Formats: sequence, C-alpha cells, structure tokens
Amino acid sequence: MYCKNCGAQLPDNAVFCTECGAQQAAPKPQPQPKQQPTYQQPQQPVYQQPVYQQPQYTPVVATPDAGPIFVTGLLSLIFAGLVGLILAIVNKKKVKEYTATGAQLTGKAKAGSILGNLGLVFSIIALVTIVIYFFVIIIGLIAGGTYASSYYDW
Ligand SMILES: [Zn+2]
Repeated sequence: MYCKNCGAQLPDNAVFCTECGAQQAAPKPQPQPKQQPTYQQPQQPVYQQPVYQQPQYTPVVATPDAGPIFVTGLLSLIFAGLVGLILAIVNKKKVKEYTATGAQLTGKAKAGSILGNLGLVFSIIALVTIVIYFFVIIIGLIAGGTYASSYYDW
C-alpha cells in the first residue's frame, strides 16, 4: 500500500505513514459472520429406495498354498525315520495352518496330508525298528562277546 498523503510505500498493514505520519485507513475489522437465524426446514422423511445389491460371489479366504503340505508330506515318507518324523510334524503344522484359514483340505493339500500321515507312521516304524535293531546288536555283542571270549579262551 501507499500513503494517502505523501505516496510513500508502506507495509500493507501500516496504520500511520512512516514518512509523513499521516493516518492510514484503519485496519479492516474482521468481517463478523452474520448470525442469521436460519429457518431449518423440518427434515422430511426421505423415502430411500432399497438398493438391490447383486450378491457378489467372493470367496471368504483365498485358498492357501498347498505346496508346503505336499512337499513335507512326500519328503516325510521318503526320508522315513528321524528326518521323516520331523518332516511329518512340520507337515501336521502346515495342515493345521491350512485348515485354520477355513480352506477345505482337498486335492493337493489332502494328498500331502495323507503322505504326511504315512510318513509319520513309517517314521515311527523305522525308528522303532532301529531301536530294536540296536538292542539286538547290543544283546548280540554282549552274548557273542562272552561266547567269543569263552571260545577263544581255550
Ligand atoms: Zn505519508
């Protein structure tokens, strides 16, 4: 803004001129929003037409990957024994995770689950067999050892 008296350049909000001291226009009062009594039309009940929503088929959950179930199940059977037992336990966990999502245990997942069960059974059989086998060897060594010593004694 410029001074009304001398024309000197002044800050926009100057009340007095810095050059001549003339009073400038009083700062504009903040325009008060007029509080007009507003007649509010009574809310008329609006008839809302019910919107027909076409039922959309959306699966509740995306089918989780059955791959881990199948792989662990198959490997538990192949490596029946201690490794197979661990894999079978992992397989059981994967099956649990799979069914926890609400997905049906079908197809590849079911096949993997069955393989995991077989892997578990065969692993237990294999481990029991190994334990029995070692017992037999130990007993055989003890018995054979005494036999051998008695044999070689003379
Ligand atoms: Zn001035």
